[in-house]
Amino acid sequence: MSQTLKLGQPSNMFQDEYGHLINGEWVSSASGEVIDMINPATGEHLSKIQSGNAADVQRAVAAAKAAFPAWSKSSASQRQEILFEIASRLKARINDYAMMETLDNGKPIRESMFFDMPTAIGQFETFAGAAYTLQGETHAYEDALGIVHREPIGVCAQIIPWNVPMIMMACKIAPALAAGCTVVLKPAETVCLSLMEFFKEMNDIIPAGVVNVITGYGPNIGEALVTHPDVRKVAFTGSRPTAQKIIQYASQNIIPQTMELGGKSANIVCEDADLDAAVEGAAMSTILNKGEVCLAGSRLFLHDKIHDEFLDKLKGVLSGLRQGDPTDMATHIGPQASSMQYEKVQKYLDIGKNEGASVVVGGSKATGGILDNGYFIQPTIFADVANDMTIARDEIFGPVTSAIRWKDEGDMLEQANNTVYGLAGGVWTRDISRAHRIAQSLETGTVWINRYYNLKPGMPLGGYKQSGFGREFGHEVLNHYTLTKSVVVNLQEGKIGAFDQ
Ligand code: ADP
Repeated sequence: MSQTLKLGQPSNMFQDEYGHLINGEWVSSASGEVIDMINPATGEHLSKIQSGNAADVQRAVAAAKAAFPAWSKSSASQRQEILFEIASRLKARINDYAMMETLDNGKPIRESMFFDMPTAIGQFETFAGAAYTLQGETHAYEDALGIVHREPIGVCAQIIPWNVPMIMMACKIAPALAAGCTVVLKPAETVCLSLMEFFKEMNDIIPAGVVNVITGYGPNIGEALVTHPDVRKVAFTGSRPTAQKIIQYASQNIIPQTMELGGKSANIVCEDADLDAAVEGAAMSTILNKGEVCLAGSRLFLHDKIHDEFLDKLKGVLSGLRQGDPTDMATHIGPQASSMQYEKVQKYLDIGKNEGASVVVGGSKATGGILDNGYFIQPTIFADVANDMTIARDEIFGPVTSAIRWKDEGDMLEQANNTVYGLAGGVWTRDISRAHRIAQSLETGTVWINRYYNLKPGMPLGGYKQSGFGREFGHEVLNHYTLTKSVVVNLQEGKIGAFDQ
């Protein structure tokens, strides 16, 4: 990987303070309050955002409602042009956006550059093409013609988390814009500065009111936004407890929801797997975005025959990774995104030890030098984990993987499915029938065979069970942002003669 990339200059990437974006204008919150944004690697202050409230929500929804009639009737070519222009501007400044994501979230720059940004850009490119594919269908009957139209659903509330802000923003607004919807977006209060700069840059091409952004704490904004009578749909990515609240809010006006929630995915290694590839995959699943990924394969099912060798190799790989300054292209693992997350992960490290799991590698916070200034946790593998332990049940959202030994495939599959979640999963084997048999048995929305995190554009992403419902990333998401209308044209002359008259 190149060490000589020209990166954005960390010192002057952000404004001192950002407003809400309402109807194309940057405005202050009615609350008069702001929230400090912190660099999790250094503890330094980066900027401030507005702490939004219900009054701000009223203004933002009014703007989105006013923009809807014109935007919903805009041509596919206009929407496509805007989405492509967004993608091309992101590409032109990819280094800057990657650096902003890294400064605010703590993820290593090599990830922001080569994973987050390309994935975010891919969403705009994918849905630029989709603007033209929103045709309905026709049905020919002997006495009638049936026409199915697809119409944009209206004003959409979109609430997103802090772990991959650019990807989350892109996978929410790109399909909504392609479909002709208008949006009120609520980013996470802990990490969202890249989005503020993004909307500043795109303000001359996204028409006023089409995307409005309200920043601040979820509870102060969420209920007013989702229960607003002019909001016709909510798309949410975040935690299960918050999802439960949002589903309740959405029940007030019976609006549809898409929910992309947590995971505790099974990464299954069979005895015939390419062990080095599987070890690399398990290491990546542990440390990508410091484990702050809902798709992480945080339950590692290792076949008895390769269990010990696998853990030795995994320990070797994880021990050799560089943890430190996330803006350095050589760094593999950065700090947790916030103090809250840092404390939560440490709590689970204690729980794992108290439950009797053994620590293969890591097991505590990372210290020494620059690591003392930020929220750094050692990449951690627990072994001797039983599937009913807390560390195998709860989503930890940190660089912590629990290894579970297995012998019998049926028994292993029962355990793999014995979780409230069902978001992703991995299978490593050279036996193709076995790979498919296991993939088909897993109650989960995505299964990667022989490569973890093999995200591909157009492949639907979403959960089974309490990992949520609705699919994003693929074409199917357009169904969530459109309504179908059936129009039936009678082709026969005159009345039916129903009354014998
Ligand atoms: P996490 O615990 O990982 O931060 P959350 O589900 O709390 O995940 O956060 C995801 C998003 O949901 C954030 O933008 C957050 O502000 C928002 N949020 C939190 N509570 C509420 C709520 N009551 N209503 C609406 N949004 C909320």
